[in-house]
Amino acid sequence: MMQTKNKQAFIPLGRPDITDDDIHLVSEVLKSGMLIQGVYVEKLEKAFAEYHNVKQAIAVSNGTATLHLALKVLGIGPDDEVIVPALSYIATANVVELVGATPVFVDIEASTFNINADLIEQKITDKTKAIIPVHEFGLACDIVKVCQIAEKHNLFVIEDAACALGAKQNNKPVGTFGILGSFSLHPRKSITSGEGGILLTNDEDLAKKLRCLRNHGIDMVNGNMNFIEAGFNYRLTDFQAALAYSQFRRINDIIKYKNELAEIYFSSLQDNKKVTLPTVPSDRNHTWQTFHLLLNDSLHQKSVIEKLKEQNIGTNYGAQCIPSQTFYKNKYKLDAQFLFPNAYKAYTKGLAIPIYERLTKDDILYIANTINKL
Ligand SMILES: *Cc1c(COP(=O)(O)O)cnc(C)c1O
Repeated sequence: MMQTKNKQAFIPLGRPDITDDDIHLVSEVLKSGMLIQGVYVEKLEKAFAEYHNVKQAIAVSNGTATLHLALKVLGIGPDDEVIVPALSYIATANVVELVGATPVFVDIEASTFNINADLIEQKITDKTKAIIPVHEFGLACDIVKVCQIAEKHNLFVIEDAACALGAKQNNKPVGTFGILGSFSLHPRKSITSGEGGILLTNDEDLAKKLRCLRNHGIDMVNGNMNFIEAGFNYRLTDFQAALAYSQFRRINDIIKYKNELAEIYFSSLQDNKKVTLPTVPSDRNHTWQTFHLLLNDSLHQKSVIEKLKEQNIGTNYGAQCIPSQTFYKNKYKLDAQFLFPNAYKAYTKGLAIPIYERLTKDDILYIANTINKL
């Protein structure tokens, strides 16, 4: 890092890269006056479907609405159980609550922070209807194994790929394994529309129903609106879609650059005995939505976050151990630390450090060197 007499500028944990091209495209839409779901929503959907080689992509207002719609369209509701990882962003479980079903938590693997597929079968009951595996921090979970289990027990798989656009297992992109794949376009993800989300499916009938549910339950018949469902307004605006569409054109470059940054973290931190670095299984690529490491016993999470902040580096824990959060703790009274030790450890000893397009390799070196001095 260049030393100047000014102190190091603050490096936030995340910051979207909005280019002049992005701004140009968004302002074209703004100038057109056509703001709601329109041409760019369609373009974005088409580009997403083509990239993933699936039949249908449905853009909606955020990556929680996607999951909510997925559960709705599959008819999941009261008396149903849905298997979710104990570590994720809280939305993964909230949507299950939102449709009146019960989330059933499964611990994660300590090495990948993803659902431990070997622990799923013991949680399946007569009430289980679906599994929502999460591809956490930008790395595919063992989705092949999850799908095998789901098939054996006749369960739906809704992939929560919110933070894993472009991640693959066996060269097949996440979001294309389950009956539905869900993505978020929040600014902390690889590409953004501000708020936004996309669902993928090869099932034409589901896609039709999703488009209907996203738009007040409207079915157009001969140019007339027929209201056939009690639907939502989960539409994406066209200027949001234009932003994501513009960014999506460079997704492969984004992933490539983030991998270069991750390599610097690996080489700079590999000898640091106070942290444990993430693992990437050989059948997968990492897209580094988050670079998430574990602090070993000698380091305390909150004080590390504080100390790094003093050095102008924004960090935070990576994801919630959901059953330990107030709502879930009060409702299900699960001893999270005992039942989900890996998720609890990731939540209490995990550290997400900055990794995004706007950072230079020198920024990454500065962050790594500062961590080495802790
Ligand atoms: C970000 C995220 C969500 C929620 O997406 P929003 O667009 O913020 O609603 C859901 N699940 C996971 C795993 C996420 O990372």
